[in-house]
Amino acid sequence: MLELRLSPGARAVFTARAGGVSISPYGAEDGTGGLNLGSHVGDHPGAVAENRARLERELRVVVEWMDQVHGADLCVLTEPSGAASAGVADGLIVGPGMPEHAPGVLVADCVPVLLATESGSHRAAVHVGRKGLVLDILAATLERIAALSGEPVHAAVGPHICAGCYEVPEELAAEAHPYGAAGTTRWGTPSIDLAAGVRRQLAGVPVTEAGLCTLEDLRFYSYRRDGTTGRCAGIALLVGP
Ligand SMILES: [Zn+2]
Repeated sequence: MLELRLSPGARAVFTARAGGVSISPYGAEDGTGGLNLGSHVGDHPGAVAENRARLERELRVVVEWMDQVHGADLCVLTEPSGAASAGVADGLIVGPGMPEHAPGVLVADCVPVLLATESGSHRAAVHVGRKGLVLDILAATLERIAALSGEPVHAAVGPHICAGCYEVPEELAAEAHPYGAAGTTRWGTPSIDLAAGVRRQLAGVPVTEAGLCTLEDLRFYSYRRDGTTGRCAGIALLVGP
């Protein structure tokens, strides 16, 4: 598990493959049990439930998940959902007054972006892939959390596929160009630079970045690398015990 500073009142946690009970192809890189947190990737439902329970015990929070669909919808929770999913969305804001609940986003190459106010009163998890970038889901979540809280917002960007690895057909790179996200692979072909697009949408916001590529770093699940695989999570928590 990787922890980054999010804001003075909030911290960002990004999970890795190791530390769970899922077996191949959802296992850890060393052949031990995997901490797959995705419930729609073909893994045994009992294993995913145990992994999610372990994570919540370790972090001492209830994680609020969303049904991610690469869309533009945003969900705002002002009270616990009490469900396995807060709803169909790609951006989830939690708070205020929910210190024991934390928004979570599931990824395997896409960018997990976490947002929090200065105090941590409102925290958000955003799923930014190629489509999310073009749909401005991050900018919309940022705008909403700032409007709801009236506080400055901070961000943390978790491990995701890098521009050097994320090869796409030329037309998709062209589509990403207006969003500042056209890139080039290490072998010189068109790619998408998700981090550059994310940074552009976060202009003016203090950002901490993990700087790790999920495809190159075997500690993380990567859809591009492995096809059928698990999902890691980004979770925005309050600072403190
Ligand atoms: Zn890479």
